[in-house]
Amino acid sequence: MKQSIWKYFVSLLAALLLLPAPSWAQGYTQTRYPIVLVHGLFGFDNIGPLGYWHDIPSSLRNDGARVYLAQVSAANSTEVRGEQLLAQVKQILAASGAAKVNLIGHSHGGPTIRYVASVRPDLVASVTSVGGVNKGSKVADIMLGVAPDGTLSQAVLGSIATGLGQIISFLSGSPTLPQNAVNAAKSLSTAGSARFNAAHPQGVPATACGEGAYMVNGVRYFSWSGAQPYTNILDVLDPALALTSLAFAGAKNDGLVASCSTHLGQVIRDDYGMNHLDEVNQTIGLVNLFETNPVTLYRQHANRLKNLGL
Ligand code: CA
Repeated sequence: MKQSIWKYFVSLLAALLLLPAPSWAQGYTQTRYPIVLVHGLFGFDNIGPLGYWHDIPSSLRNDGARVYLAQVSAANSTEVRGEQLLAQVKQILAASGAAKVNLIGHSHGGPTIRYVASVRPDLVASVTSVGGVNKGSKVADIMLGVAPDGTLSQAVLGSIATGLGQIISFLSGSPTLPQNAVNAAKSLSTAGSARFNAAHPQGVPATACGEGAYMVNGVRYFSWSGAQPYTNILDVLDPALALTSLAFAGAKNDGLVASCSTHLGQVIRDDYGMNHLDEVNQTIGLVNLFETNPVTLYRQHANRLKNLGL
């Protein structure tokens, strides 16, 4: 009898040791290299970079990750933002003593981190684009007065412009469009993105909606995105995202970026039940209750990087 109980405990212990580390385990997010979070276009005033990643940095730090928040121009060209980020990455490496960083960028943060990995791959362990505008956004095209395909009526274009205006006004705390947003829109347009990709092609899929190279110049490339513009009735920005989603004329999108445009390197998933702001746990944690929490995705990804030795 005693022996069978002993056997039971030994086999239980063996089973526990064989299980993968649970998501609450200490060290679950403990990556080898520091994680640098890079905000998108809407890193404006009242939702500044500190609050931009609502609850995500603390959740990553709790289980071992070293997390840094980059602060680049809220609205500017990818190259200008990229140079600002490169300077900050060098500071982070000097301060932390690390040899490389894991870059995670949301929205315009996607191309921004790609710029750094393109010009200084030796400083970058991985690039992860979340809802990244890698092949441009039709919303940016419309903002610049370039209607996509001529298929959208004036009334629909008006609705999209209204939605975009509401999003920008809310996030900037300002009733007018910031002047430098035009520079950003040029980078985020379909044509501007194509120009950027020609100069910095690493990880960009060669096909319209496939995956890109997983590893280029020693840097691992990943991406994920949502594909549900309206997810939470309590979030004041969801109706605006429902309007901007009209720009995509039925193509899968998160309200501001088409799913296929977000693809970079290894596509983890491109159709989470999330809109563009849910992807960074906004507005203040109001996300889809019937989908994996976005904070969980960042934790899982940190664990993925850790298991790859990054
Ligand atoms: Ca939301």
